[in-house]
Amino acid sequence: MATSTCPACGADAFVADAGTGTAAEGGQCSRCGYTSGESSRCPHCNAVARIEGSGLAAVCAMCGGPRIPSNLGGDSARGALREQKKALANARAASVATVLQGAFSTIATLIGLAILPASILGKLVVFAIALVPLLLAMRSRGRARAARESAAHAAERAWQAAAEDVATRRKGGVTAAELAATLGIEAAHADKLLTALTVNDRTRIDVGDDAEVRYSVGADRRVRVGEGPPADEELADETATAERESPVR
Ligand SMILES: [Zn+2]
Ligand SMILES: [Zn+2]
Repeated sequence: MATSTCPACGADAFVADAGTGTAAEGGQCSRCGYTSGESSRCPHCNAVARIEGSGLAAVCAMCGGPRIPSNLGGDSARGALREQKKALANARAASVATVLQGAFSTIATLIGLAILPASILGKLVVFAIALVPLLLAMRSRGRARAARESAAHAAERAWQAAAEDVATRRKGGVTAAELAATLGIEAAHADKLLTALTVNDRTRIDVGDDAEVRYSVGADRRVRVGEGPPADEELADETATAERESPVR
């Protein structure tokens, strides 16, 4: 990765943003962590802050919210990352509630057994006092699991938006290896993101002269392997698809 002189520490370790490509527009120093540019602005805390960790574990150094390098994926990724952060907070709260309610149920059971009343009614009351927090704990556990799942789904949407963004910016399309390098993720994750985009008909697949599979976005430069020129009917259909999709770009 190309580096330039860091304005803060002077080392030749400043890496310009993958999205913008010029040091003037923003980037991050790999030596001192100096960060600049709007593309480093956190979608959660709004600070220009560096990213710690990589891939799905990449978080804002200031607020700890999930981040994507260079804010790739634009507004759709930002919105999905905010959803992810909220769902993660809900999951944590529900997990804490599970532990507290579980502990309360245990304590209530122990006290109940120690002072166990002789009457049937008394035993029922003790039983209910221990059972209610247990049921609440089970409900909280279910909520925590659901929140973790929606956080994972939001993360998936954010990273797919980023992958589509990268594929759109690159004129000749992007390979899984290039996407992995740009987003700082594992090659397998990049492959999964690009495959998902293709399944959802968001990207085209070309096989270049180098036999590498390239994924690209845009109706103008689609090349289909093993097919002749598209028929008029298909062209009309593609134009309609492009028109339908253009407002979200
Ligand atoms: Zn530096
Ligand atoms: Zn932040």
